[in-house]
Amino acid sequence: MNIILFGPPGAGKGTQSQFLVKNFKFNQISTGDLLRSEINSKSKLGIKISEIIDKGNLVSDELIFDILDMHLNKIKNLKNIIFDGYPRNFKQIKEFEILLLKHKLKINKILYLNVAREILQKRISGRVICSKCKKIYNIYVKDIEYQNHKCGNSFFVKRNDDDEKTILKRFDVFKLETSSLIEYYKDHEGFCEIDGNKEISQISEQIKAFLGI
Ligand code: AMP
Repeated sequence: MNIILFGPPGAGKGTQSQFLVKNFKFNQISTGDLLRSEINSKSKLGIKISEIIDKGNLVSDELIFDILDMHLNKIKNLKNIIFDGYPRNFKQIKEFEILLLKHKLKINKILYLNVAREILQKRISGRVICSKCKKIYNIYVKDIEYQNHKCGNSFFVKRNDDDEKTILKRFDVFKLETSSLIEYYKDHEGFCEIDGNKEISQISEQIKAFLGI
């Protein structure tokens, strides 16, 4: 089963993807992660990308298409994929159809995580990521795993684009560009709007129930 998972910044796409990866053998493809790994490689392209991301803008549709296409080429067994963060605007919806045909993939479910703005802001301000294993936590959530987290030489970092100014821009970009996905996919038989305002485990339960897993 292949899934598109989308929602505003801070909706919990990464957290819920991790849940599906860990418990149900899904494979997450996050275009944000692919871009961040290019940035970490310190390539010229990575430097350009970081300038765009740090302003809260989207990178170009052509670049994201190529990066995703190359990534899909590298994966041997393309199944149970969660597309996290792609498509993100109307042009990408159309280009995604080309990629799906090329890689012989079909989308079965489309999950929209809908979350209120105040909750998103709180989640983003508390979001920390393990520098080593990339696991996402929130300092406001009482979480034993977070308090005891050890995975080698890890420490918690914040994302550069989670600062207050950039996040406002990212909200605008979601509203202006990415919310067109709701209109486009809402009549797809596999579409479901998930109430993402709840606690992490309650959101996971809704997702599980909808996916029938
Ligand atoms: P995310 O990790 O999904 O929150 O993405 C972080 C940032 O990466 C976004 O704010 C964009 O700048 C960039 N990005 C991720 N996915 C895409 C995409 N499909 N198209 C354009 N830019 C993207």
